[in-house]
Amino acid sequence: MYTLSSAELERYVCVCGARHCKLWRFPANFTRAKGLRCATCALAVANLVTEIGPKGRHSLGTPAKNEPMDTDRIGILVPAVPIPKEGVGNYWRYNSIPKSAREWWETLPTYSQISL
Ligand SMILES: [Zn+2]
Repeated sequence: MYTLSSAELERYVCVCGARHCKLWRFPANFTRAKGLRCATCALAVANLVTEIGPKGRHSLGTPAKNEPMDTDRIGILVPAVPIPKEGVGNYWRYNSIPKSAREWWETLPTYSQISL
């Protein structure tokens, strides 16, 4: 089962302060200092205007071969799914997110319900 500690959840926050929602991250070759992005902020980074669906997917991506037309990547940003107990800032590689961890991420609200 996939669970994060309260400390890990506490750090799962967008640079804008949004929390308790899906977050995206820059690929590993970008500095961690760039921080996590909520759907709204990720769309701004990617310069995309679209609605992200409940499972974190949208159809404005450029799917690679054999990928569906909809994607959960936003521009270069990929879903930020923390690796439990690996320390803050460690995330599953996009292609190796375990099923239970991906389900956890998909279940998070897409947009933060907390007014900022
Ligand atoms: Zn944000």
